[in-house]
Amino acid sequence: MATQLVTTIADVRRQRWADPNLTWGLVPTMGALHEGHLSLVREAKKHNDRVGVSIFVNPTQFNEASDLEKYPRNLDADMALLEGEGVDLVWHPQVAEVYPDGYQTTVAVNEITKLLEGEHRPGHFAGVTTIVAKLFNVFQPNRAYFGQKDAQQVAVIKQMVRDLAFNLDVVACPIVREADGLAMSSRNMLLTAEEREAATVLFQALQSATTQFQMGENSAEALCNHMKELILTEPLARIDYVSVANPVTLTEIEGDIVTSALLSMAVYIGQIRLIDNTTLGR
Ligand code: AMP
Repeated sequence: MATQLVTTIADVRRQRWADPNLTWGLVPTMGALHEGHLSLVREAKKHNDRVGVSIFVNPTQFNEASDLEKYPRNLDADMALLEGEGVDLVWHPQVAEVYPDGYQTTVAVNEITKLLEGEHRPGHFAGVTTIVAKLFNVFQPNRAYFGQKDAQQVAVIKQMVRDLAFNLDVVACPIVREADGLAMSSRNMLLTAEEREAATVLFQALQSATTQFQMGENSAEALCNHMKELILTEPLARIDYVSVANPVTLTEIEGDIVTSALLSMAVYIGQIRLIDNTTLGR
């Protein structure tokens, strides 16, 4: 069947409940789709009768107006990709229906949103959890798919789903990378050719720290400093943060890594803020 593109909440609900016996997987996105998004769609296709994708550049999760303004948008190209994957339903809502006049509700997860991305992007996660809660309410999917690229987002959404008893499973999918290791991101297309080359420094730092860990370096501080030093060799890079944290609580590890660690970072390449992460474990 052809991919249906709808804008209104009423249309999503009509499609979703046309046959209540079918299971639905939902892939929430902000569009400007790439292979990372499509990997989530493919995973959703495997485990559900129907797959829905939302495309919504959610203004409330942007903490910088310029970031929202320059965020890439290309609905026609996105639709062509999703048709190619056999997606059943695409919801491309209007801001005015998601946040109508008089809108006043926020869904917020308190503790794990104070660290890492939450610390450096004030208000970001309240925007994320509020929109994702609304998407879940509208779509009522059986499963929802998120990328490990946004590792903290996965943890925050899982916490919200547990706390509010949303009736669905959250599925985390691995990071999809370019051939040179750069994590795929819609923001990558905003990089100049020179910046695109410089951007590989994030993955190189993660990889080099992983090698050090495998060779026996357990000190969180040593691994953190190692990544920072490597990133600073790239003149176009400016560090926002580099972290070696407990993968469950997301708090910084003091002393040695005992079993596992989440290495994560946000680094500006020119004006573009990129994030990446990997998990270490023995
Ligand atoms: P976004 O459109 O950036 O909000 O991303 C939508 C979903 O795709 C989120 O769950 C992201 O974590 C996921 N995603 C984005 N980039 C990648 C990637 N390179 N690999 C895997 N998942 C990704």
